[in-house]
Amino acid sequence: MKNIYNYKLEELEKILIENNFKKYNASQIYDWLYQKRVSSFEEMTNLKKELIDFLNTNFEFNNMSVLKKEEDADVKKYLLNLNDDNTIEAVLMFHNYGNSLCISTQIGCNMNCAFCESGKLKKIRDLEASEMINQILVIEKDLGIKITHLVLMGIGEPFDNFENVMKFIEIINHPKGINIGSRHITVSTCGITPKIIKFMEINKQVNLAISLHAANDELRSSLMPINKVYNINNLIGTIKRYIETTNRRITFEYILLKDVNDSYESALELSKLLRGLNCYVNLIPYNETKNKFKKSDKVMEFYDTLKKNKIQVTVRREFGSKVSAACGQLRSNSKE
Ligand code: SAH
Repeated sequence: MKNIYNYKLEELEKILIENNFKKYNASQIYDWLYQKRVSSFEEMTNLKKELIDFLNTNFEFNNMSVLKKEEDADVKKYLLNLNDDNTIEAVLMFHNYGNSLCISTQIGCNMNCAFCESGKLKKIRDLEASEMINQILVIEKDLGIKITHLVLMGIGEPFDNFENVMKFIEIINHPKGINIGSRHITVSTCGITPKIIKFMEINKQVNLAISLHAANDELRSSLMPINKVYNINNLIGTIKRYIETTNRRITFEYILLKDVNDSYESALELSKLLRGLNCYVNLIPYNETKNKFKKSDKVMEFYDTLKKNKIQVTVRREFGSKVSAACGQLRSNSKE
């Protein structure tokens, strides 16, 4: 049976019309799902009995549940259980500008980045749009808050699950859906360039972040196997095209790993690579896990070198090292 949260409003309208119901019934259903937040069709009290029967016969609700929660003052980390007993993570961060949720897009990940905990568990399957939506709904309900910002930076590679991710964005962005503004949504990719072009063509005003982590092919390929398929030249060329076409600024994420990519020379190399691009670099202090990589102690030096070279740069605020905040850590710890 299909999950009811997997439908865009127009898709639901079409199905209802084809089954001799009214187009406006779709808006009513959306209102129950996304505004009133009910968890069964019986609760949709303004619908006719025939329609409730039709919905019950053809669609199901998600029953995602909270398996584990780790909390700090400024961060809540959730391990969530899916219908098929797979688990995923979502992390809520309280910022001064709002409540930002980091969601997962796949169960596991096939990108196999050397420093990343998520890739230790291979991809089992893609998440459906409904399962991404329910990360928001379950956590808003659990905490009684409204999520204002969304980052697709949890477990998985969003552009390796392109169609479902695009559908998800459309549903949550819709005024009758959860209504999170495009500019408050950020998709992060390891750099699958054909999908960056597709994303550009759809042009949703959604922010795009690229996990770069190295400014030369030798180092980047050793950290991120995807670079052997889409190398830096290909990636930067694609980003130039993206910026020219959309007029939007790009974020480059750069994890600082001790003695790997944090030298003065690395900072110069990165500055040279990005010179003249409408972008900024988000330096990420590494969250240590059980692998060989260590957190850099040269974050501020690296920052200063980029600044001096006229690259816009920020340092990501560190959240909850107490709560196994490294990407995929909660899930991989729970599997040991
Ligand atoms: N696959 C996508 C999105 C998920 S990863 C991507 O690659 O962008 C989200 C970000 O977290 C990436 O920049 C990733 O490199 C980073 N990340 C992974 N493990 C980390 C760790 N242990 N500490 C800090 N950042 C990490």
